[in-house]
Amino acid sequence: MIRVNAVSKSFGSNQVLRDISFDVNEGEVVVLIGPSGSGKSTLLRCINFLEEFQSGQILVDGEAVGYSQTGPGGRGRQTESSIAHLRTKAGMVFQNYNLFPHKTAIENVMMGPILVNKESKAAARAHAVELLEKVGLGDRANHFPSQLSGGQQQRVAIARALAMRPKVMLFDEVTSALDPELVDEVLKTLRDLSKEGMTMIIVTHEMQFAKDVADRLLFFYQGAIIEDGPPADVFANPKTDRFRAFVKRFQ
Ligand code: ATP
Ligand code: MG
Repeated sequence: MIRVNAVSKSFGSNQVLRDISFDVNEGEVVVLIGPSGSGKSTLLRCINFLEEFQSGQILVDGEAVGYSQTGPGGRGRQTESSIAHLRTKAGMVFQNYNLFPHKTAIENVMMGPILVNKESKAAARAHAVELLEKVGLGDRANHFPSQLSGGQQQRVAIARALAMRPKVMLFDEVTSALDPELVDEVLKTLRDLSKEGMTMIIVTHEMQFAKDVADRLLFFYQGAIIEDGPPADVFANPKTDRFRAFVKRFQ
């Protein structure tokens, strides 16, 4: 479903991603962990075409992201419409949920499908009702963001991303800005999505969650993947001292 092949990226002289390769199969949950500044967000942003990268290739659902081949060895920029199309394949949720403050929960969820996917208002509303129920907010549809807790707002943000009917979901530290007592309700939503077979890449510092939910765990260190495997294996037999030192901080 996602193929990341030999991707490297620099900001100026700062190389942030070093020859990153991994695949995510349909229905798989891949969790990325690693120290601050190791390149986790940058990688997600490359997959969703919020960043360009200098070399390598990323395919989402069989389509190249970031660059298109224009001929043998040639590279060309993608058009605005092809980028918009690709962005609908991968739904992304960030630490700061950024809901539209003057729109209700259900209006936040309906907007993308109406404006970008050209769904009818009725169809978008019916789907939004279904999604708000799925994330446990069926009774909050007409609340404004300011009338919702952080955890509830984050679940609206997840429903809003799902409304675009993405093939994969990318989550970047979606619980980091929440009060501790609100973290579990958002993690439960992610667990439910994983049970339904959603393909996901999740960046998180929640180690127990990573162990429970990940099919594969990738450990980032200075822009490279230095551990890769089922979480039980990686935690039981880490290959690197860096991973041991990193997880010690969370025990
Ligand atoms: P954290 O756990 O703190 O979120 P991260 O692993 O997500 O960290 P990134 O945000 O991907 O790390 O950043 C990786 C490196 O890229 C850092 O050195 C950062 O300073 C740099 N970087 C990120 N975005 C930019 C940008 N727009 N311009 C220049 N440098 C950037
Ligand atoms: Mg980050």
